[in-house]
Amino acid sequence: MKKKLFFCMVMVTICMCACGKKNAATDMESSHDETHLYESQTDISTVEETTQEETALEEVAEETESTEEETTLENVVAEESVDAAEESKEDTMAETEVQTEPEVTEEVKPKQIVICIDPGHGGDSEGTKQEYDGILVMEKNLNYRIATSLKWYLEQNEGVKVILTRNGDYDLSLSNRIKYAVDNNADYFVSVHVNSRSTDEVDSHGCMVLMSCSRYQPSNAKVASVYDSEMRMAKSIISKLNVLGLPIANDWNTENTGGILQRVTTVGETYPDGSPADYYTLLYCGTKAGLPSIIVEHAFLSNEGDYRNFLSTNEKLDALAKADAEAIIESIR
Ligand SMILES: [Zn+2]
Repeated sequence: MKKKLFFCMVMVTICMCACGKKNAATDMESSHDETHLYESQTDISTVEETTQEETALEEVAEETESTEEETTLENVVAEESVDAAEESKEDTMAETEVQTEPEVTEEVKPKQIVICIDPGHGGDSEGTKQEYDGILVMEKNLNYRIATSLKWYLEQNEGVKVILTRNGDYDLSLSNRIKYAVDNNADYFVSVHVNSRSTDEVDSHGCMVLMSCSRYQPSNAKVASVYDSEMRMAKSIISKLNVLGLPIANDWNTENTGGILQRVTTVGETYPDGSPADYYTLLYCGTKAGLPSIIVEHAFLSNEGDYRNFLSTNEKLDALAKADAEAIIESIR
C-alpha cells in the first residue's frame, strides 16, 4: 500500500515539474514574440521570469516533500482503509494543483502598447464634402466620430493605450501629427479618413489602406520591420471591412493590389537608404521616424451607396471603428 502510494506521489511530482517547464518555455517564447520591439526589456524580464520560475519549482519540490510525509503518516493511521488512502491521494493532487498553477501563469503580462489614432483633417481643413438630404456632410466630422469610437474599442483590450492627435474640431499639420505620436511614444499610427473619387469617369466605392512604399528601416524603429507591420495591419483592416460589406475600392488600381495603395513621391526625394520617398507626408514622416503608419480610407463619401450603407449614422460609423479595432489588435498580437 505504502509503495503504491509512494509511486503515485513520485509520478505526480514528475508530471508537475515537466508541466512547469513546458509552460515556462512556452510563456517565454510567446513573451519574446510579443515584445520583440522592446528587446532590451525582454532580456531583463526573461531573466526575472527564469529566476521566479526556479523559485516556484523549488517551492513545489518542498511542498511535495512535506505533503509526502503527511501522506505517509496518514497511511499508517488508515492502513486498513483503501478508500481513505485513495481519497488522501486525490486530495493531495488537488491541493498541489491549486497551490502551484497561479505561480506559473502570473508572471506573463504583455507590455503596454500605445496606438496613436489620427482623425484626419479638422477645423478649416474639412476634407471631402457631399450634400445628402439637404445636409452638407463633411469628412472631418465622420473621421472624428470613427476615431473616437475606435479609441474606445481599442482600449477595451488590456495593455492598449490610445492617444488622439486632435480632441476637437481644429487642424494641425501632417508632420505635427506624426511628431505628436513620436513624442508620446506611440508604437503605431493610424490615420482615419473617408474617400472621394479621383476621377469623374468612375463612381468609386469601397475601402483602401495607404502604406509606405519603402522598406527603409531606421535603427531606432519601433518594430523589427516597419514595412511588414504596416502590411500586416493594412491587410487585416481590409479583410475586416470586407466582412462588414465594404468591398476593395475600384479606384487607384487597388482592385489589383488587395486594397493597398503605395505611392512614390514625384519629386525624386529619397530615404537615407536611397529608396524612393513616399508621396504622402504622413507616411513619409512615419517611415522616417521608424513608426508603422497607415491611412485608412473607409468608404467614398462621394458615392451615395457607400454613404447610405456605411457613413450615414453614428451606428454605422461605430461599426467601421469596431472592425478597425479588431483588425488592429489581430495584426499586432
Ligand atoms: Zn481625408
